[in-house]
Amino acid sequence: MSDSVQIIETTDITSSNKCDFCSALCCSYITQELDTPRTMHAFDVLLWQIAHKGVHVFKDGNGWYLLAMTKCEYVMPDNRCGIYETRPMICREHSNDACEKEVPINEGCDLYFQTFEELDSYCRKRFKTWDKRLEKFEAERAKEKANK
Ligand code: SF4
Ligand code: SF4
Repeated sequence: MSDSVQIIETTDITSSNKCDFCSALCCSYITQELDTPRTMHAFDVLLWQIAHKGVHVFKDGNGWYLLAMTKCEYVMPDNRCGIYETRPMICREHSNDACEKEVPINEGCDLYFQTFEELDSYCRKRFKTWDKRLEKFEAERAKEKANK
């Protein structure tokens, strides 16, 4: 092993230097709180959104959220904040106690959907008439076309 490789013991990591050993995980996504989806229409909208690359949906103790995996423009090559003095309040308030470094966001949730297929499967289990509604829509559309 090269003598230039620095070995970091877990015990050397403290709350004041912890972020120095992280790739800015908390600056790598955004979330938006959602009204609790209850209807098939509300889940249809979520399915459309999650079909887009990097968009996930989750539910935790506070409610439902849309999550977009997109790194903040101001994360510097050394993973520090490039606008530290003017960073938003939400960034200032974020604590590194039990943060994303220990608990990835998908592990701390009641429900986490990373793909269209995962959410689609949930919808089909939750709504017994999910398929019937789609079949009805397609049948009506076919009828309309035939009558034109
Ligand atoms: S707060 Fe946590 S996730 Fe964010 S940079 Fe620090 S250690 Fe990483
Ligand atoms: S503004 Fe700074 S602290 Fe906030 S997400 Fe961007 S890089 Fe991270």
